[in-house]
Amino acid sequence: PATDATSEEPEEDLRSPICCIMGHVDTGKTKLLDCIRGTNVQEGEAGGITQQIGATYFPAENIRERTRELKADAKLKVPGLLVIDTPGHESFTNLRSRGSGLCDIAILVVDIMHGLEPQTIESLNLLRMRNTEFIVALNKVDRLYGWKVCRNAPIVKAMKLQSKDVQNEFNMRLAQISTQFQEQGLNTALYYKNKEMGETYSIVPTSAISGEGIPDLLLLLVQWTQKTMVEKLTFSNEIQCTVLEVKVIEGHGTTIDVVLVNGVLHEGDQIVVCGLQGPIVTSIRALLTPHPMKELRVKGTYLHHKEIKAAQGIKITGQGLEHAIAGTGLYVVGPDDDVEDVKESAMEDMKSVMSRIDKSGEGVYVQASTLGSLEALLEFLKSPAVKIPVSGIGIGPVHKKDVMKASVMLEKKKEYATILAFDVKVTPEARELADDVGVTIFIADIIYHLFDQFKAYIDNLKEEKKKEAADEAVFPCVLKIMPNCVFNKKDPIVLGVDIVEGIAKVGTPICIPTQDFIDIGRIASIENNHKPVDTAKKGQKVAIKIIGSNSEEQQKMYGRHFDIDDELVSHISRSSIDILKENYRDELSIDEWKLVVKLKSIFKIQ
Ligand code: GDP
Repeated sequence: PATDATSEEPEEDLRSPICCIMGHVDTGKTKLLDCIRGTNVQEGEAGGITQQIGATYFPAENIRERTRELKADAKLKVPGLLVIDTPGHESFTNLRSRGSGLCDIAILVVDIMHGLEPQTIESLNLLRMRNTEFIVALNKVDRLYGWKVCRNAPIVKAMKLQSKDVQNEFNMRLAQISTQFQEQGLNTALYYKNKEMGETYSIVPTSAISGEGIPDLLLLLVQWTQKTMVEKLTFSNEIQCTVLEVKVIEGHGTTIDVVLVNGVLHEGDQIVVCGLQGPIVTSIRALLTPHPMKELRVKGTYLHHKEIKAAQGIKITGQGLEHAIAGTGLYVVGPDDDVEDVKESAMEDMKSVMSRIDKSGEGVYVQASTLGSLEALLEFLKSPAVKIPVSGIGIGPVHKKDVMKASVMLEKKKEYATILAFDVKVTPEARELADDVGVTIFIADIIYHLFDQFKAYIDNLKEEKKKEAADEAVFPCVLKIMPNCVFNKKDPIVLGVDIVEGIAKVGTPICIPTQDFIDIGRIASIENNHKPVDTAKKGQKVAIKIIGSNSEEQQKMYGRHFDIDDELVSHISRSSIDILKENYRDELSIDEWKLVVKLKSIFKIQ
């Protein structure tokens, strides 16, 4: 069929390399894909470019044509290039198998005006985690002040036509960005000056709007992969295939979109994919690709294939696929294979995720759209700077059952009764249940944002708890009545005192620690130099007003129940100490904690 990626058989049996586009939001990932996809192909014809499922295929011929001006004279050994259509983390993290990346190469897009941004670094870390090669597209060069457009020109040629000022600004920004990469532990250089490809990462300046540098990017992608990845790109009969998405398509039921990285798939093949409830064994009912003639394409019509050879993006239909998990491998049961072994291999992907769940059973519930993104999120939550324990996981939209699972924490550890939902929807029923039972759901499509939200929530909870506890917390103090400073003997008692030790705080219950502990009321107000204050510390001399909390306390009177020689102390209790420890641990000095210990022995608290 016309869509067959390998219809022009290359000399060596190499498959097309698979490329992913990554980078921070708004750096131009989508635009770059559009641009290389051929909005700039003059004839209005797509030049052999074919739309596949989840990917766009660029035949070698098209790439040769578009890079002619570079006079690279390169022999293209690969049949073409397969670029994944959905830029960003998700498709990249999905293209994996047993921990390693299936993407052969990535384009890391950096906005020349912004340099490295949080998701650039997130992407970098993912690429490193999966050992994936990448090329930096330093995009939006047309935004340099005074840039002269040279549509679709090779970058060296375009750069030569620029004024000195533009060149200077370019060089300055390039140097800054190289330094930022250096800070991330990476050496980078302009690709045409890079003498140690592999050690030093190549930078290709591009404009996704006017096309400068796009020929360079295409050529570099193909040359670099075919030069350094021959082994990986050699066609093999062993299936390497990853589920990118699970989708319901009218007329076809549940389908899975896969990228066939290597090998050949046939209609009728017995396959195994990973499901949340265990391995799914089924057979390929249909192998589908989009209809090649775009103009005639009616939504939902696909070409059927008897077999498809890698590398290709394909839609597969088959029974039971609705439980498949995106981001896991697809396995074919060969004539010599034991289906049990294949099942085990298929579930291998789940194991790595399960092993990250906290053994204590206490932690947040984490939900992500795919296994790959779940893994990335778990990785992040585990990192030393974050350390948020996870008690449960889910894949796909947040349903009622997920809220039920998260609600278990309400009893165990209330603050963990939360769902961190990464790039997934929450069903209205789930939302309603969550509101009813008190499960908090955080949604974000950037990992950092989830963390920020969760942290703000925890901080807020702490603050609230502190406020609640404020009435119960008793700060330790020892007060001495100053001579001639008894302003009112009773109801309220008003005295001038010297803070001998600790902190006097409005609200603190005051006691005369004689044998029968005489409670005289709580500090209602404090005045320091005629100004009202909330607290007074050791060494200060202040006036305090004490109001009895009940009629018994209100009877207590200076001169009868206590006098000038009596010390006044905070009346602490077991529970007040616990509250102090939990909420104010860092706010008390060592001496103040020592005072707590002293008072503890006065009040004979265990
Ligand atoms: P993404 O979020 O990384 O996919 O970014 P988009 O492709 O959506 O681009 C974000 C914005 O930047 C859009 O308004 C684009 O038109 C613009 N943009 C992308 N590439 C370029 C470029 O090379 N030059 C200029 N001037 N604008 C660009």
